Amino acid sequence: MIEHEKYLLQPVRRPECVMSHGNGSWLYDEAGREHLDFVQGWAVNSLGHAPPEIGEALSEQARKLLTPSPAFHNRPMLELCRELVNATGLARAFLTNSGAEANDAALKLARKWGRTRRAGAFRIVTTENAFHGRTLATMAASGKPGWDVIAPPNLPGFVRVPYDDVAAVARAIDESTCAVMLEPIQGEAGVVVPRPGYLRQLRELTRERGVLLILDEVQTGCGRTGTFSRAEAEDITPDVLTLGKGLGAGVPLAAVIASESAACFEAGDHGGTYVGNPLMAACGLAVVRCVRAPGFLESVRRRGQHLEASLRRLAERSTGPRLVEVRGAGLLWAVRFDVPCAAEVQRRCFELGLLLNAPRPDTLRLMPQLRVSDAEVDEMIRRLSQALMPERASQREAGLNSTE
Ligand SMILES: *Cc1c(COP(=O)(O)O)cnc(C)c1O
Repeated sequence: MIEHEKYLLQPVRRPECVMSHGNGSWLYDEAGREHLDFVQGWAVNSLGHAPPEIGEALSEQARKLLTPSPAFHNRPMLELCRELVNATGLARAFLTNSGAEANDAALKLARKWGRTRRAGAFRIVTTENAFHGRTLATMAASGKPGWDVIAPPNLPGFVRVPYDDVAAVARAIDESTCAVMLEPIQGEAGVVVPRPGYLRQLRELTRERGVLLILDEVQTGCGRTGTFSRAEAEDITPDVLTLGKGLGAGVPLAAVIASESAACFEAGDHGGTYVGNPLMAACGLAVVRCVRAPGFLESVRRRGQHLEASLRRLAERSTGPRLVEVRGAGLLWAVRFDVPCAAEVQRRCFELGLLLNAPRPDTLRLMPQLRVSDAEVDEMIRRLSQALMPERASQREAGLNSTE
């Protein structure tokens, strides 16, 4: 057992090591082992471990102003909100401390909008296997199997439909519905990419039926999928969009961004002690400026193509377990096996110094930093193939299989 582990409230099974520092795509533990990190704090460290941009933003802002209180304006908050509005084509932004809080705010905004603009409508249509966070409201909005029994009674007012099924959403909307909320690519469900046109059709449907479209881009946004938002790639503008994870590049920061007509919060409706604090906002500003700098998103797409091509080549030569599907966008990818071996493969990868995540029993997910190098991708593939085909890989290492 790890020293002092008994003081932790929550039982989480974690590997027998203590992480101490990181650099780019590499994470190091106290025993001096290096881990090639393709999890990056669950797609959080968009600029890698310990990025200099964040170090500078933090130390500069920390010496200036930490929190004037949310009752005052501060410059980094104002500037970040302006950047987020410009990057999404929406009108107004509100900063929060986590993705769940941003989604909570979006749900609250939608309900207020329904109450005041749609004759008391309050129901929100969500999708099966969705993940929107761990507050009571976002748990109710999530379709994660097994979650409904953790802390009942659950918040009412949610209707769940299958993902990637426009007709099901159309059937679920009635006069009591105020919004449809979904992830443009389902992240925690294992990088589930809907058919082309799904989001466009949902945008048309929600507009026709007069309800809000809320996109949870906590995982897909901020450059992760190769454009600033996934909505941009699909050429749609939702009424409400949430960002988190990569937005802070490792510090707690998220945002809800709304169109002018959806932005119905008035003074007193919502808030929080730390919302919009300049310390985190300064980090978000550094991230958004980096991600929106000329050429950055292009480089994410190019790195993503290299990762995708490498995974497809690995899939082609996989023998057992076989990789039967490679799916994703930008630098958010998953591979599915023909057998439920993901946890075991993840464990073997960990032993080989490679961090991957297994969101489903048959699925591994890869979320490297947005500046991951081709050489790091190649090294990841080398370690993953070794975990998959230990014998062949060791033969290759010994030079016995020189044809490859
Ligand atoms: C991670 C995630 C959340 C929750 O964000 P937290 O910062 O953990 O509260 C919400 N939605 C999606 C799509 C996510 O991936």
